[in-house]
Amino acid sequence: MSGHDFDLVVIGAGSGGVRAARIAAGYGARVLIAEEFRVGGTCVVRGCVPKKLYVYASRFADDFADAAGFGWRLPAPPTFDWPSLVAAKEREITRLSGLYAANLEKAGVELVDSRAVVLGPQEILLVKQNRRVRARHILVATGGAPQRAPLVPGIEHAITSNEVFDMPTLPEAMLIVGGGYIAIEFASLLARLGVRVTVSMRADKPLRGFDDDLREGVANALTRAGVDLRCGVMPARLEKTAGGLLATLSDASALDVGAAMFATGRTPATAGLGLEGAGVALDRHGAVIVDSFSRTNVGSIYAVGDVTNRVNLTPVAIREGHAFADTVFGGKSVSVDHADIATAVFTTPELGTVGIGEEAAIAEYGDVDVYKTGFRPMRATLSGRDDRVMMKIVVDAASDRVVGVHILGEGAGEMAQLIGVAMKMRATKADFDATMAVHPTAAEELVTMRAPTTRHRRKG
Ligand code: FAD
Ligand code: NDP
Repeated sequence: MSGHDFDLVVIGAGSGGVRAARIAAGYGARVLIAEEFRVGGTCVVRGCVPKKLYVYASRFADDFADAAGFGWRLPAPPTFDWPSLVAAKEREITRLSGLYAANLEKAGVELVDSRAVVLGPQEILLVKQNRRVRARHILVATGGAPQRAPLVPGIEHAITSNEVFDMPTLPEAMLIVGGGYIAIEFASLLARLGVRVTVSMRADKPLRGFDDDLREGVANALTRAGVDLRCGVMPARLEKTAGGLLATLSDASALDVGAAMFATGRTPATAGLGLEGAGVALDRHGAVIVDSFSRTNVGSIYAVGDVTNRVNLTPVAIREGHAFADTVFGGKSVSVDHADIATAVFTTPELGTVGIGEEAAIAEYGDVDVYKTGFRPMRATLSGRDDRVMMKIVVDAASDRVVGVHILGEGAGEMAQLIGVAMKMRATKADFDATMAVHPTAAEELVTMRAPTTRHRRKG
């Protein structure tokens, strides 16, 4: 280790950085990790974890409403207290963040509370301490940040997902801009907490990239929950008013809202990091360019997680961080397989998906069989709720391999996780058919759809 203070300096103690630091230290490496905000990163502090807690909070609204159908009489209409939820969330993320820090310490990692910048291929500056350290390897795990786009007049009055969790009060009405994961999850949860939500997005349907039928299903579910979906419409300007904001939209309509949140994507956190000076190549969005081993073009510098803009999900960042540590410090050569990653959008009902959608499968395989079903969930029979479950299996007809499973319904995220195992094992439709059902469940439909609803065949 001559000439180096550390074998590894990790920049960013989020999902990817923490895992990499701990595993590398476990292999005997001397590791320092720098974090400028809070240990745990986006997922723990202002992403997956608080988001899921808020989703749970929101679903009580449906439970209270449905209870009467099952014989329950609630004494008075339940009321919701936003500050209580925010405080409870804060306690939980503080506990988790502390756990992450303790585990780093237990692993022998030096944790430094500071912004770090790269001075050269093997040199880092810890800004707060004005301390320079030399490292044999540098791992960039700085994640991403919400982008404020498009730059409409008054956008400075808008919030992003960074601020939404800690809004001082819950607005009566809110505008959410964007049609991706964050916009749609927050529209669903805030509507259930009693906010009048309008979503404006440039696309004709939410969740570009997901299967078209599911996108339609999500749009319908949001509308049923009272969300005003404005597709193909974007804000033209925001103006401050006494009570909040006046949002003028591109269709010339105007909305009085308490707050506006832009959820129009995230950008890799590389600004001012010093990477270009060290010779590290970035793409046009500022993402660090890496190979399948997370190596940059500079031998001593690696990058994992959202800063590389591959698949921006927590389990992916964790796996990339682990693979990096195994490869560089564990003497194993491990690359990450980014195919068939299961994912969920935590709307109510949830959307769970693995593999590709119908349109993408037709483009890739030509001959494709689709099995599709839609039904009323059992719970809705007594609750009277106007709810639909949608399931779709997409099969490459030539090989019988299942190449996509798409679910909209309660527990869809949990189902997608398990279907992901089957798909990783390259399950065929015959394997699904050979699997006995669990009754009564919604998931049993996935193994009982016998005849294709659509057969796509190449022409000629
Ligand atoms: P991060 O977790 O973002 O960590 C990067 C860390 O680096 C941060 O703590 C940051 O403060 C620090 N940092 C940055 N620059 C510096 C510097 N120069 N010096 C020191 N420290 C620095 N994914 C899921 O899989 N499921 C979900 O349900 C889900 N929900 C989400 C909800 C929201 C609202 C958001 C925003 C994201 C969500 N994600 C979800 C995505 C997930 O949070 C990210 O994919 C994941 O956190 C990426 O991990 P990372 O290690 O790359 O970066
Ligand atoms: P997404 O990429 O999911 O969605 C971005 C949205 O913003 C899209 O609707 C996109 O429109 C729109 N958009 C982007 N740029 C512009 C622009 N210039 N003008 C107008 N509209 C624009 O990003 P999010 O911010 O919602 O989330 C970031 C990432 O975090 C996700 O992609 C996902 O990887 C992760 N995440 C995961 C979650 C989960 O696992 N449950 C939950 C939350 C986040 P268009 O579709 O037309 O391109």
